[in-house]
Parts: sequence; structure tokens; C-alpha cells
Amino acid sequence: MLSDAELLGESRMPIPRPAGAGGAPYDLVLLDRDGTLNVRRPGYVTDPDDLVLLPGAVEAVRACNRAGCAVVLITNQRGLARGELSRTQLLAVHRRLIGELGRRDARLDAVQVCPHEKDTCDCRKPRAGLIREALRRASWARAGRTVLLGDQPTDAAAAGAGGVGSVLVGAPGTSLDAFVAELFRGHATRV
Ligand SMILES: [Mg+2]
Ligand SMILES: [Zn+2]
Repeated sequence: MLSDAELLGESRMPIPRPAGAGGAPYDLVLLDRDGTLNVRRPGYVTDPDDLVLLPGAVEAVRACNRAGCAVVLITNQRGLARGELSRTQLLAVHRRLIGELGRRDARLDAVQVCPHEKDTCDCRKPRAGLIREALRRASWARAGRTVLLGDQPTDAAAAGAGGVGSVLVGAPGTSLDAFVAELFRGHATRV
């Protein structure tokens, strides 16, 4: 069970290496939130009822878990800095998220949030701070065995700046689990 600090993206504790990581195709799978796991909507997700998971999202997270990859949520939430999203609301939304995942046997290993306004920090994507922090916390993980799944060019830019791979998901008619299956299959054929 993730702590409230973790759900708020405020934990700096080590991320444990998952059981079964020895045979995993990647050490870390970094997942964007809005537009990748859940439906992107105008404004900020302030109410848990507004968190609607995309098709294949739960299956994708579960596939990563079962493959032995640690799954880290990496999300910009500028609404916190703008006073349009409170920590209490974010906590409720993330509790709902892990509840929905957990009910279907999928889990996040860590959550990292950039709560800052644009151009005021090193962690807001497209900068690489959230990725560097994930790699710092998961000291056993290698950048070359880390991939970020996101729906925006800023996700790919952050991944590039952080020295990790990336896959742009979210094309119409596709589902996240299909991207993960393809990613893992691609990895297997290269080995
Ligand atoms: Mg997104
Ligand atoms: Zn930041």
C-alpha cells in the first residue's frame, strides 16, 4: 500500500526492486498520467469521479507488474501551484487511481508529481527532474533499461533529456496494453 506522501508525489524513499525483476524486460516503466492512463480532460482532475481510465490501462500496468518492472507514475500537476488543485483533491484522485488498479490486481510502485508552475523548476516535463528522481530512488535501476510511456511530445522530450527511452501512446483506436505488449515483444526479440 502506498503512503499518502507517495500518492502526493512527495516521497523521496527508495523504490524497492520488484520480485521477479531478474528476468524483466525493463527495470523501470515510467507512466504519464493524463492522456496515458486516464482520459485527458480540460482543466485538472480535481474530483475522483473525473478520473476515467483509458482502455487497456489496467491491463498495461498489470503486464508491467507481472513482467517484474517497477511502475512509476510521472505527472505534471501545475494546478497545485495555481491553486486550482489542492493536495487533498490530488490525494483523493490518486487513492481512486490505485483503488481502481488494485481491484484488478495492478499496482503502481511509486508516484512522482511536479507541483510547480511552468519554468520555475527542473522537474516539470519536458525537463528531466522527475525521471532523474525516479532513477535516484530506484538505485538498482539503469537508465538504459528504463522507458517512459506518454501521450505528449513533452513526455518524449523529458525522456530524451533524462537518458531513457520513450514511447508515444494514445493514438486513436489504440490501447495502452497493446503498446506494452509490443514494447516487451520488441525487447524479447533483441535479446
Ligand atoms: Mg499526458
Ligand atoms: Zn517541478
